[in-house]
Amino acid sequence: MIIWAIVIILTITAIWYLTRSKKQTLTDSTDVPVHDKIAQEDAYIDRPLVYNGNELEFSIEVLHAVLSKHFQFYNRLLDIDREKFISRLKKFIDNKIFVIHAKKGYREMPILISASAIQLTFGLRKYLLSHFNIIQIFPEAFVGLEPFRILIGNVTGNTINIAWKQFLEGYKNKYDMQNVGLHEMAHALYYQNFETELYIDKDFKDSFQQFNAIGEKVYHVEKVVTIGLYSEYAIKDFQEFWAESIEIYFKSPDRLQMHYPDLYKALCDILKQDPLNYPNHLFQGE
Ligand SMILES: [Zn+2]
Repeated sequence: MIIWAIVIILTITAIWYLTRSKKQTLTDSTDVPVHDKIAQEDAYIDRPLVYNGNELEFSIEVLHAVLSKHFQFYNRLLDIDREKFISRLKKFIDNKIFVIHAKKGYREMPILISASAIQLTFGLRKYLLSHFNIIQIFPEAFVGLEPFRILIGNVTGNTINIAWKQFLEGYKNKYDMQNVGLHEMAHALYYQNFETELYIDKDFKDSFQQFNAIGEKVYHVEKVVTIGLYSEYAIKDFQEFWAESIEIYFKSPDRLQMHYPDLYKALCDILKQDPLNYPNHLFQGE
């Protein structure tokens, strides 16, 4: 009798284990607006979900539906640029591996995070950030090692790490200058061009000198009197100053242009786009 009980318990345990280790599919979010609440239990997982971008095979209709619902940058584009956006987005997703540290993955995760990279590089010729083949998505702020600290995003080795909750807030909240998606993509774009040997965009590198020269002046002005556009963090490290400049450039281009017109112009020249004058000034990349 006891043996039978043990056998039954073992069988149930085995079934439970096998079903729970099945690969999950990405869920179509049913929330309106975008799914942004991760249940508490989702914060504790023993194994992340892994998706090869080239196996996700999102259709043009799905990409269009997600972008039109949640991505203002895409909605402002002319039809011809929307086509370009979708085609670039598809290629970008194809080239990445997405590691989601949650029990459930949502299709908005790879689509919208990749879209932030496409937004940043939309005027450039090279947009794949090929050095970074892994994108890790955490439900909330996560722990970073060496040094040990709590992060909402970072770029390390060949990986871009982003906290989903803060990523969404970056696009939803119109009143602050934060956007962790654009921030991390800005770091990645810089490393791609200045710290790796492959897939370098010479035009970007050359025009970046302009940002160095003008940015350096603003950086020092901000150290003395801040006008509230940059965080304290940004005026301690020039690399952070670059990443925050990108956040401000996209979230509040009018304020950046008003306070630092030369810096705004330098960013337009580097990125080959002009948020305040689109579509009069079209994107210059192919
Ligand atoms: Zn940073």
